[in-house]
Amino acid sequence: MILNAPCAGEWQLFDSTEPEDHLLAKSICETCPFLAECRELRGSLRLTGGIMPEGTWAGIGHQVDRRWKCGTRNGYDGHRYHREEPCEPCNEARRLHNLARTEERRRAREQKNVDYADRKIGNSSAA
Ligand code: SF4
Ligand SMILES: [Zn+2]
Repeated sequence: MILNAPCAGEWQLFDSTEPEDHLLAKSICETCPFLAECRELRGSLRLTGGIMPEGTWAGIGHQVDRRWKCGTRNGYDGHRYHREEPCEPCNEARRLHNLARTEERRRAREQKNVDYADRKIGNSSAA
């Protein structure tokens, strides 16, 4: 961290993985005069496989990054959370997710009907 940066001494906010804290920290980074330098530092640590701290660094939330990968259903929510238009892979992931859920529900309904029919047959043969 850079000594006279806006985040200096604000570890409680910047180490936090709470979404609200992340948004606030991110907005501070966005106006920080050291943002470019900070990004570069973060990028080099990432390239060398260094351990990334949790929380917000250079306007990016590490925990949030890990949870929200593009091309997943969570990615879609991630875009929404950041108030951005979801990218194509995330839209597609959401579409597939919804299709799968519809299909799951249909199967569950079908299974219920089969069970019900079985019970009726079971009852009538017992009677
Ligand atoms: S960009 Fe964010 S984390 Fe980096 S020095 Fe500025 S306030 Fe701190
Ligand atoms: Zn995406």
